[in-house]
This record gives sequence, structure tokens and C-alpha cells, in this order.
Amino acid sequence: MPVESTYAPIEIPDVDIYTLMFDRPNKDFSDDHVMLVDAKTSRQLTYGECAARSKELGIGLKTLWGWRKGDVMAVFTFNNVESPLLAWGVLWAGGILSPANPGYTLDEFVYQLKNCEAKAITTQAECLPLVREAAKKVGIPESRILILGDTKVPGFQQLSELKNMSHREVKLTKRPKFDTSKDLAFLVYSSGTTGLPKGVMLSHRNIVANILQGAVAEGRKLKAGEDSILGFLPFFHIYGLTCIMHASFYLGIRLVIMERFDLERFCQLVEKWKITFVYVVPPVILGLAKSPVVSKYDLSSVKMMNSGAAPLTSEIQEAIYKRLGIKTKQGYGLSETSPTTHAQRWEDWKDKIGSVGPLLPNMTAKYVGEDGLEVAAGQTGELWLKGPNIMMGYWKNAEATANCMTEDGYFKTGDVGHQDKDGDFYITDRVKELIKYKGFQVPPAELEGKIASHPKVDDVAVTGVWEDAQQTEVPRAYIVLAAGNQPTPEVAQEIIEFVAKNVAQHKRLRGGVKFVDVIPKSASGKILRRVLRDQAKAEKKKE
Ligand code: AMP
Repeated sequence: MPVESTYAPIEIPDVDIYTLMFDRPNKDFSDDHVMLVDAKTSRQLTYGECAARSKELGIGLKTLWGWRKGDVMAVFTFNNVESPLLAWGVLWAGGILSPANPGYTLDEFVYQLKNCEAKAITTQAECLPLVREAAKKVGIPESRILILGDTKVPGFQQLSELKNMSHREVKLTKRPKFDTSKDLAFLVYSSGTTGLPKGVMLSHRNIVANILQGAVAEGRKLKAGEDSILGFLPFFHIYGLTCIMHASFYLGIRLVIMERFDLERFCQLVEKWKITFVYVVPPVILGLAKSPVVSKYDLSSVKMMNSGAAPLTSEIQEAIYKRLGIKTKQGYGLSETSPTTHAQRWEDWKDKIGSVGPLLPNMTAKYVGEDGLEVAAGQTGELWLKGPNIMMGYWKNAEATANCMTEDGYFKTGDVGHQDKDGDFYITDRVKELIKYKGFQVPPAELEGKIASHPKVDDVAVTGVWEDAQQTEVPRAYIVLAAGNQPTPEVAQEIIEFVAKNVAQHKRLRGGVKFVDVIPKSASGKILRRVLRDQAKAEKKKE
């Protein structure tokens, strides 16, 4: 029998994201409540300023740029205090946001730009050279490149200045009408269960639902006017985009925005802004538990850290508590689920170590065996999920959508686990090929494509290997060399460097290269990834 959430069902209003954020009768804070803080300059923005500036931008996009409902804005920036304003401005105007990792190579960004059919790009001064090249390749004119942040670039439109000065036009400009369960808000990229990155179609309703589902779980413990969050997880990933930029904002929690992660800067900011809650990934907890630099700072304001995007081991959870008295708990989700589907209760952090907690409200789950049939309660299987936060499907990819969604609305996560008698879930393995390096996706198919183009390579398969020292998986390539090549350390290094030159930092072959005679494959030619993963595990034990 499928399992229902143990939370009482909640009502999900039929509103778009901007309306949920800024047109709410029942918020318990005022318009001059400080909501966003720029960690670099300490500049602060109130709730009222956020509403007004996003609307100004939305009107500017419509009246000056001719923005139409459904137009896609690609985003290629590190976190910035203006990132939320951009998101809400685009959403105000009925646009779709497609954020990309600013660490991407030109080819990686061009792939996303082409796939999502972006009409414009928002970036920041330091990323502009790559963005200009990418825009040229896909035919986006430079007049459609918007610059956010304080550094101005002559000849380019600055986000803070994209506003219409004509009172008449501002007054007459109306928002489009929304069909919240069909109109897209975000197109984020995920490789899903298999293959190359795909656009995950998240509707306004998906995100509104997930904000409100999260408010029931996390929201019970966080209060406007009392709590502060440090936002360093990237807004280009769904974890940062929904949980930090939207869900905390909805609760009225002050958000201190950090451009990117740096351990010492993180500690300084926690101390300075008396941060009470942080969304993290396991390697950050590792750094806090081990690095000497941490001892210089007072981190006692932190009441709880939520770890997500990758598995958290009990050793690290215990190490950080022992050293700093900081409690950590887990959440779980995927890009395809907007993202959060499970959040461990704060009070369970110690008794339920290893669990990702119960299902969020309005969700149903089941565990399925290799035969496609549901397993008995408590048994291990692949986790399938249903609820209002499940994506609409993959952008223009009906086949990939059909492969991961059932006719009765379940999404197949590709993650394996079980549920205990209290209704708490555990994620213990993966059946999909995805590798996660420090919470970032590394699609094996993408690396395999790149490596196969090397002249010394005849065949290749990539899999993840767990690195205890870094608390993350790292990609490892198994390679069959082309005839006439010797399996030497020099050739391995040559391939590692070839990959490093052609992919974003987080996709490098940190797990090394192993030469093999043959890649294990099924009769139909599919790579037998489980065999490879078992092989990698065995090798790891020997290393
Ligand atoms: P993404 O779409 O990038 O958010 O990646 C989603 C994947 O991250 C999931 O399918 C899991 O494999 C992994 N993941 C997320 N949260 C957790 C967690 N708490 N424990 C284990 N794996 C997780």
C-alpha cells in the first residue's frame, strides 16, 4: 500500500509565485522588515523594497524589452543580492527562469541556452566574456544581456536601471493571466535517471506547493524577526532557488546572501549576523567539523543546520556536534520534485540519525522492487513519489518524461531506501547513473561522451566512488584503450587533463582513471553500471 504523508493535508492556493510572495493578506511582518542582506556590502533590502523593485523590473522587461509570457531568461551568475529581484521581476512579467552554473564551460552553457530556447541572459561583469561568446553562438543579441550587481559594464543594460520612467505606461502595464498548474516558473537542468541534462519543467503551482509544504515542516521552527539564514548554496540549483530564495523569504526570515562558499567567510558571517539556520551540503559540515579556522569564531547562534543534496554520514553529524555543539538534520529531494519531499523533524535530529524524515504534506510514496512491483512496508526498494510538487515533465523530451513518470502520477526517483515503523524515510543507494560531487550533478553520460572523443580511447564508462576524506562521491572513468596504446600513468593523466579542460570544475575525474579490457555491458549494449559500481567499491576497499 502506498504511504500517505503523516502531516494533515494543506490547501495550495491557485496563485502564481509573485502573488504568493508579495500579495498576501496574512503575513506577520511589516513592509519595512529587512529581508535581504548583501554579505559583501551589508546593503539591506526590506520586504517592501523587494516587492517594489521586482515589479519595477517586471514592468521594465515588458515595456522596454517586449517581454512576453513564457519567454525564458537564462541566468549565469553567482549568488547576488539582486538575484531574487531578478527572479521575481521575470516571474512578475510571466517569464521563465533558467539558471545555469556560472562555472560551466562555453559548450556546457551553450547546450543549456539552446535547449531552453532562452530569449535573454542575465549575468554579472566577471562572467560576461563567456556569456558574450555563448550569446553569439545561439544568436541572442548583446542588447538582450542584462548585468546584475554593482559593477557596471559600458554598453550593457544594468538590472538596477531597467525600469520604465513613464508613469502612464507603468500604470497601464498589467501582469499576464496565469494558469498556475501549466505555466512554467523554472526550467532547471538535471540529468534525471539517465543521459544528458534535461530541462525540468516546474510550474508556478509546483513551487507554490513546495514553499507551503516546507513552511509546515521547517516553518514551524523559524520565526520572522528572530531568525536569519545564510544563503551561500547556489541559486542556480533548485535547493538554493526554492528553499533559500523562496521558502525562507516566504516565512519572513532575514536572508544574508553570500556570493559563493568560503569556510572562513562563512564563519565570519554567521558570527556577524547571528545566523540561526543554514542550509548546507555534507562537505560544508565536514569543513566545520575539522578545519582549524573555525575555532576563531563564535557560531553559537546556529540552532540547526539542514543538510541536503547528498547523503550525510553519522560520523560527520556527530563530529560537528562534539566540536561546536551544532545540530544537523537532513532533508531530501530532487530538482524534479521542486525539490523538497522529506524533511527530518528538528526534535529527531539525534534519535533518527541517517533518516531524511517524514514525507511532506500532500505527498504519497511507495517503494518498488526491480520487478516494478511494490515491496512490502519496511522493505528496501526504489522510491516513487506523488504530490503537487512533482515536475510537469522534461522540456520537449516526452520519452525521458515517460520513462520516469507513471500513468497514475508517480515520479520514479532512482533513489533506493526504506521506511521505518514511525514513517521516517532512509535513502541508502541509487539505481540511477547520476553521480553527485559535493551536491552538484555529474551526469556520467556527459563525461563518457567527452572521454570517448579522445583519440586514445576506444570505450568508456564513468561511475561514482565514495571519498570518505571529502564526504562526497567523485567520478571515476573505466577506459578501454584504442589499439596500440599502453595503459600507463601518463596516459591516465593525459585523459584526466583532457577532461578537466573540457568540463566544469565539479565534473573533473577526481576518482581517477582505471584501464580495463572491456566495459561490462548487457546483451542490448547498455553499460552495466551496478557491476562497475561494485567494482569501484571493491577497489576503494583495497586502496
Ligand atoms: P538534484 O536534482 O541535483 O537535487 O539531485 C537529486 C539527488 O540528490 C537525489 O536523487 C539523491 O540521489 C540525492 N540526494 C538529495 N538529498 C539527499 C539526501 N539527503 N541523502 C541522499 N541523497 C540525496
